[in-house]
Amino acid sequence: MSRREEILAEMGLAPIWKLRENEAPAPVTKGWIPLKSEVSGCVQCGLHKTRTRTVFGVGDEKADWMLIGEAPGAEEDRLGDPFVGQAGKLLDNMLASIGLSRTKNVYIANVLKCRPPGNRNPAPGEVEKCSPYLLRQIELIGPKLIVAMGRFAAQTLLDTDSSISSLRGRVHRYAGVPTIVTYHPAYLLRTLEDKAKAWEDLLFAKKVMSGAAAP
Ligand code: URA
Repeated sequence: MSRREEILAEMGLAPIWKLRENEAPAPVTKGWIPLKSEVSGCVQCGLHKTRTRTVFGVGDEKADWMLIGEAPGAEEDRLGDPFVGQAGKLLDNMLASIGLSRTKNVYIANVLKCRPPGNRNPAPGEVEKCSPYLLRQIELIGPKLIVAMGRFAAQTLLDTDSSISSLRGRVHRYAGVPTIVTYHPAYLLRTLEDKAKAWEDLLFAKKVMSGAAAP
């Protein structure tokens, strides 16, 4: 034992574990299975204390389209899937109107994987802890287009305070992926007059997807 190791041992700080030569560090596991298991066991913010289930995401894991909402609500927290309440029904109808479905070529996720109690707005610290999960989902899926649904998702992903109306109709980027912005289905349930604008956004998204609008 070297003098340094002796001193550390006396201080209760030994033994020091060293990597053996040529011993590679454990690989960072990056696939779906470890990601899902990390999310389901996540305790990185206080929301784990009040959640019933984490809400990971749903859909085609190789989708071209990725739709991103805010955070699970009560029904999502109960069932473990995103957009399963009334807003989800509207979302499914909106997808069907442009020939898409949540099971084929579409993946749906939220900025937060756990429900904020009482559906309050996500707190900045919660977003900070949860964003790496979303980024890993995007990396694994490799979508061609992200649709940010609602003010919270749009402002968070695009790191801006701008309003939805000023962000619509343009192609932004999130994590290097072309991203467009539209209204949140729950907002559309309350504001029927904006449904036509959401329809325009979906047509715009289709154009971007087909390469007709420059990303
Ligand atoms: N609202 C969201 O933003 N996400 C859901 O999963 C449900 C409602």
